[in-house]
Order: sequence, then C-alpha cells, then structure tokens
Amino acid sequence: MTAVATLGSHCALQVLKGAHDEGLKTILVCEKRRERLYRRFPFIDRLILVDSFSEILDWNIQAELQSENAVMIPHGTLISQMSSDEIESITTPIFGNRWILRWESDRTMKEELMRKAGLRMPAPIDTPDDIDRAVIVKRQGAAGGKGYFIASSRKDYDEKRESLIRQGIISADELLYIQEYAAGVLAYLQFFYSPLNEDVEFFGTDQRHESDIEGLARIPAMEQMNGGVSEVPSFNVIGNSPLVLRESLLDGAYSMGERFVDAAKEAVPPGMNGPFCIEGVYDENAGFTSFEFSARIVAGTNIYMDGSPYYSLLYDRPISMGRRIAMEIKQAFESDRLDSVTT
Ligand code: ATP
Repeated sequence: MTAVATLGSHCALQVLKGAHDEGLKTILVCEKRRERLYRRFPFIDRLILVDSFSEILDWNIQAELQSENAVMIPHGTLISQMSSDEIESITTPIFGNRWILRWESDRTMKEELMRKAGLRMPAPIDTPDDIDRAVIVKRQGAAGGKGYFIASSRKDYDEKRESLIRQGIISADELLYIQEYAAGVLAYLQFFYSPLNEDVEFFGTDQRHESDIEGLARIPAMEQMNGGVSEVPSFNVIGNSPLVLRESLLDGAYSMGERFVDAAKEAVPPGMNGPFCIEGVYDENAGFTSFEFSARIVAGTNIYMDGSPYYSLLYDRPISMGRRIAMEIKQAFESDRLDSVTT
C-alpha cells in the first residue's frame, strides 16, 4: 500500500487525518521544534525529524520516503520555503502537478494562466509612475500578504516602500508587483479536480482574515488620521472563516473552476489535478474579479475538516479536502493509475 507524506505546517493535520481515515499510512516531515505539537495527534504514524524543511531535498530523506512508497502532498509551506527548481527536483512522487506550482509562484506565468482561463483580473500597473488610482503592491511568490501595501500615487508608493525597507520587511532590490485594487467581498473558491473521474468538484468558500488591514476598519477615521495606527498596514494572513455563497453564484463558480482546469490542461500538462483555489472579490454586481490562484490545497480548507457544505451534498460521510486527496490516491492505487494523480 502507499503512504501519504507532507510537511508539518499549513494543513498537515487534515491531510494526514484524511489519509489515516482512508486507511493509508501517514508520514510527517517535522521540524524538531514542532515535534511536541505533532506528537499530540495519534493518526500520524511516523515523524521524520529535520532541523529545517529544506532537508527534504537530501537524498537520504527522499530514499526514506520512497522506501515507504510515499506520495507527497504539496501545500503552501512547500511553495513558500522552496524554489520551483527545488520542488521540481524532489524525487518522491508529488500529488497533483508539480509543474503548475511554478505557474503559481511566478506572477507573469500566473497572470497568463488566469487570462487563458478567461478569469476577470485586476489590471496590472507596469511602473509606479502609472499609479493613478488605488493599487495594491505585492511581493513575488506566496508571501502570505506580508509586506503588501495599498498606494494611490507614485509619492505614496515611494514613501511606503521606503518605510518597509527601513523596517527590514522588504529588500531594496526586491521586484514588486503592482495591481489595481479590487474592492468587494473577499471570497476564496476551493475546488478539487479528479483526473480519474474527469470531474470538477466545488468544495467550499472561505474568507481570509488579514492583519493589520482588517483591524483598521475598527478604528474611526478621525483616530486613524490623528495617528496611532501603523504607517503601512499589511495583509498578513492570521486565519480563515467560512463563507457560503448565494446559491445563484454557484453556477458561475463551477464554470470558473472548469475553465481553469481546461486552460491548465493545455498550458501545463497534465493540468490542474487535485485541489486548487481561485481567489478574489465579488463586486456590487456580484461579478467576480480574481487576483490569485493556488494550484494546491489551501489552508482555508482547514475550516472544513469535518466536511464542507457542498461535500456534504456530494458525499454521505464527512469528507475534508485532505480526505478527498487520500480517496483519489487510494482509487488510483487500486486501479493501478497512481501515475495519473502524481507527477
Ligand atoms: P497566498 O499565496 O497566501 O495566497 P499571496 O502572497 O500570493 O498569498 P495574494 O493572495 O495575491 O498574496 O494577496 C494577499 C491578500 O491581499 C489577499 O488575500 C487580499 O486580501 C489582498 N489582495 C491581493 N490582491 C488584491 C487586489 N487586486 N485587490 C484587493 N485586494 C487584494
């Protein structure tokens, strides 16, 4: 039988609990400083202790994972702590499509794929001199919103950038990405594409809570103007909460997911296999503008460890995203098609 392995962070608990519930062996690559935390959970069969996650590139850890017939589940920590070259060099089979993770990390490739999928996106702003409306300034890769800021002019941009450099949050030579600010209700649409069943499933929606931009909304404008709030509010993710869409928006959500899967099949074979998320805002006309996708499981699925509203309609037992991944691996293993769900 095959085993499921992942890094100890992000959504490791639901991934391994889901694998355990499907009868698969579970392996956690765990930083020594977090050993006490993860030992609390009896569904983790084996801990491989490391000083830092980059050690998973070492041949001996790769050999250990292969001797267990492990499939590695990629999540946000893998993306944020390793370069695309490093991820692509991992010899253990990775669930989903390892090649698409590069498209998630590179802003230009990301935009290209979203355009191919026909997703409406905020306009990119080429240079700081072109800032003539509210924009959001982002860092490359999955920075989790840390160091992002809103600006409304070149002068505003320069001042905030300088301040972040002074605080050591961004570096002076860092290439920043500027995009039109899209106002509306934040919604992170979570999907699963099964290459075995050739079907897109809508799992659920979450909202991300980001500090300290959210806290600002609780401070009256007068107090904000009198000072006492941080100079450059950031978008550092603190947690997630559930959101249920109006049922009339569901059809549109499915169609975005399906277009994304079709575009990914063409742009980066074998396509968008497994969990993914399209992230953006609904505006006053309930139109969706997406500023981001994640080509792997997102931490926002942690809120549905006991099953999401839509999966409770599709399945008769509680299925988390972690468990859905394990079901796909099991089905592939039993039908000798593991190659169809891993790269
Ligand atoms: P992650 O990989 O964790 O998703 P990231 O570093 O790729 O994060 P984004 O998801 O692009 O960053 O942005 C972080 C946050 O910034 C979003 O959750 C959202 O609140 C805000 N944001 C990003 N782009 C826009 C935009 N164009 N308009 C309005 N808000 C935005």
